[in-house]
Amino acid sequence: MKTDLTSQKISFFSTQPYDKNFFNKYNESGFELDFFETQLNPQTVTLIQNSAVVCVFVNDIVNESVIKQLADKNVKIIALRCAGFNNVDLESAKKYNIKVCRVPAYSPQAVAEHAMAMILTLNRKTHKAYNRVREQNFSLNGLLGFDLHGKTIGIIGTGNIGKAFSKIALGFGCKVLAYDIITNPEMEKDGVVFTDLNTVFKESEIISLHCPLNDATKHIINRNSIALMKDNVMIINTSRGGLINTSDIIVALKDGVVDYLGIDVYEQEEKLFFRDLSEDIIQDDDIQRLMSFPNVLVTAHQAFFTNEALTQIALVTYDNIKSLLLENDIENKSALLV
Ligand code: NAD
Repeated sequence: MKTDLTSQKISFFSTQPYDKNFFNKYNESGFELDFFETQLNPQTVTLIQNSAVVCVFVNDIVNESVIKQLADKNVKIIALRCAGFNNVDLESAKKYNIKVCRVPAYSPQAVAEHAMAMILTLNRKTHKAYNRVREQNFSLNGLLGFDLHGKTIGIIGTGNIGKAFSKIALGFGCKVLAYDIITNPEMEKDGVVFTDLNTVFKESEIISLHCPLNDATKHIINRNSIALMKDNVMIINTSRGGLINTSDIIVALKDGVVDYLGIDVYEQEEKLFFRDLSEDIIQDDDIQRLMSFPNVLVTAHQAFFTNEALTQIALVTYDNIKSLLLENDIENKSALLV
């Protein structure tokens, strides 16, 4: 794939104004950039013209049908500007000889800090206090929280984000339990206790999900795992919506079995997130039900959304694309998926 970079066009999908700002700012190689606000899917793939590279985000649909059309259009690279890649059919990419790359760790701290922000908000109800005080209601009734110090936080998935989150939790004086398919000795030295998944479910007051969405982790939070948890459990999901069985969590919230839920991701988020739907009638009854609970906090996939993270995303995405175009390879093997 040896080539002159300035003659190359990159087609970006699902772009927001901030994507354009950061990718324009760091386009030091002079790529031609084509920004589409629309999601990539089997219909919108027709928008791509003369691009060797498409750049996609978390909710773009990159299934076999899309990949076949990309191959027909001579697209050589699918560059994810995110870490998770559950929305890309890697087998099809391999079959059609298209390289797939991602940004493995742009700012683990951004996501870890947002997870802790969700915990603190749900616990100390600062969102409610803010609104109350603005209405000159200075009462504390209903705002009772608990000390985080001394509580047990269970982390599922101790990669870049899970590890960053464990340091924050330890800093708050929490006991940290963790489950991952790989134990991390460095984290053990810091005081994290690795254990089996059921022990994390049974012993944690707060459970924070930081594993990828795959066949093994889909609906890892379901009626059976919830049945093992403590009565007053708080569940935080900043990873991928599909980790939680939405119907089961709604039942658990209605029954008061789960005491708090913080989600930055949602199973059906691709029809909702990253858009202003304030004038629309939302057809998704599950998200409406979730948003109606006083003990549920929903943010719209914003955990990654810091200046530092967007800078890293742009820089690493360009580096990945350049390496693939010039060398047909990427030095950081975790960035190259196919
Ligand atoms: P990572 O690859 O560094 O870590 C993932 C960890 O999960 C690894 O340690 C891996 O061994 C572990 N894992 C894999 N399968 C598992 C299983 N079955 N059970 C338990 N653990 C398992 O990834 P990361 O950078 O820490 O990101 C984690 C996830 O966070 C991503 O997959 C992505 O979905 C999500 N994410 C969300 C946002 C956001 O804005 N909300 C931003 C970035 C990433």
